[in-house]
Amino acid sequence: MKITEMLLTPNKYSRPQRKLERVTKLAVHYVGNPNTSAVANRNYFENLKDTHSAYVSSHFIIGLNGEIIQCIPLDEWSYCTNQANGYSISIECCHPDSSGKFTEATEKALAELCAYLCEKFGLNPMNDIIRHYDVTGKQCPLYWSPTKFVSKAIADGRFTAFKERVSGLMKSVSDEDTEKLYYVQVGAFRSKSNAEAFLLTVREQYPSAFIKVM
Ligand SMILES: [Zn+2]
Repeated sequence: MKITEMLLTPNKYSRPQRKLERVTKLAVHYVGNPNTSAVANRNYFENLKDTHSAYVSSHFIIGLNGEIIQCIPLDEWSYCTNQANGYSISIECCHPDSSGKFTEATEKALAELCAYLCEKFGLNPMNDIIRHYDVTGKQCPLYWSPTKFVSKAIADGRFTAFKERVSGLMKSVSDEDTEKLYYVQVGAFRSKSNAEAFLLTVREQYPSAFIKVM
């Protein structure tokens, strides 16, 4: 996972530099503007310092190819998730069309970023990753929100599947820590008798040394 920092210029419309005192949620969004790039969305936030047309921004934007741009440091507010701005890190995702469905590259990068942030802030992905929808009822991200055409059960199911994907990434990190064995190797031989002879020498100093055939 690669995060490219393109921090916004401090300004009251998109980077107010208000101190984010705690992070208890990660809030996921869709940009709502089909087929736009992460950089274009970042530049929109940046230009608010001149246009003054809205108060809006996000900590991260993930592009159609999975590129991750960071706009705001993790200890400052973004203007993205209404009443949750004071305790959440916000992530906007680009999407190719009006269905709002993320590309696999975008969703993979989002899962990796969420796993990283959950580890960093000690969050539980099943409870602490939220949609904009969960805060205000806005259909955001659209593909994970109930609409005229998609029932709440289906939308929630899509979102739950994503959170499980993040959990899976975090689990594979901890499995690796507990189940892998790291061997300290001091030699490798094609001949078994040479290996046994060398083992006798090594055992003089390290009595627990043993031969493992690989
Ligand atoms: Zn949103």
